[in-house]
Amino acid sequence: MKHYPGSGKVIFAGAGPGDPELLTLKAFRYLKRAEVVITDRLVSDTVLDEFVNKAALILHAGKQAGKAESTPQSLINELMVEYALQGKLVVRLKGGDISIFSNILEELRYLTEKRIAYEIIPGITAASGAAAYAGIPLTARNYANAVRFLTYYKEDMLVDTYWKDLAKTDDTLVFYMSSGKVDDLVGKLIGQEIGKDRFISIIEQATTPMQHVYSCNLYDYATNAGGQEFASPTLIIVGKVAALQPELQWIVNSRNEKNYFKPLGKKIQQEARA
Ligand code: SAH
Repeated sequence: MKHYPGSGKVIFAGAGPGDPELLTLKAFRYLKRAEVVITDRLVSDTVLDEFVNKAALILHAGKQAGKAESTPQSLINELMVEYALQGKLVVRLKGGDISIFSNILEELRYLTEKRIAYEIIPGITAASGAAAYAGIPLTARNYANAVRFLTYYKEDMLVDTYWKDLAKTDDTLVFYMSSGKVDDLVGKLIGQEIGKDRFISIIEQATTPMQHVYSCNLYDYATNAGGQEFASPTLIIVGKVAALQPELQWIVNSRNEKNYFKPLGKKIQQEARA
């Protein structure tokens, strides 16, 4: 590990997708010692309330694709460095796994540039958490040989040739940050004549007490669920494996429509603690 004497350190840790018990023991051990925690919006309050050192300063630095209230990346970078240079143990906590659809590259480069040591602790990504708690074996034999983690939140993100490939592949497709584009996404796949044996599972607030899962054939989606708004966060799984979900589900859908995660604050928020 790179070590630069004289400064603190930043620990990047994934907090898992929601259920606080999906945090790793290693992240837990660091949170107990942390002096400053800079957290994402998609981290359970229970993790912050119960697992973090009571004397630590908690900074909420939420971001959401396309939302003006998002904390600027430069501010997060500067805060990490500022506290680390004071010799503090900083934990940079992110929902799920720190390397999946997050800005970790910028943060790591900034720390390297400023000669601040870091460690990286993986977390359970939403795809793993949602698949497990919904009952979807992502690469079940004879159903899929591979799984792809994708995102589709803007019209021009994926070109037609790529949609064609997605419609033809046997891989399971997992879409992050795409809940506002489900109608469009289904339309694109059907437009490319995706197989009639492909299903879609829409998993809202996975692994939390508010988890809600809806699965149907892709060709039935528009009539059954088209035009709906989904809770934040929502994960979409497409493939033959999604057809197994109703058979393998082991958690009853929640009727609680509240949001498990707090909405995005206006700017960086400091939590008042005892
Ligand atoms: N680093 C995170 C992903 C960040 S992108 C990870 O590894 O999981 C944020 C997206 O992740 C959300 O838009 C949603 O698609 C997905 N997501 C995160 N937590 C989720 C949850 N509990 N339920 C459903 N989707 C979730």
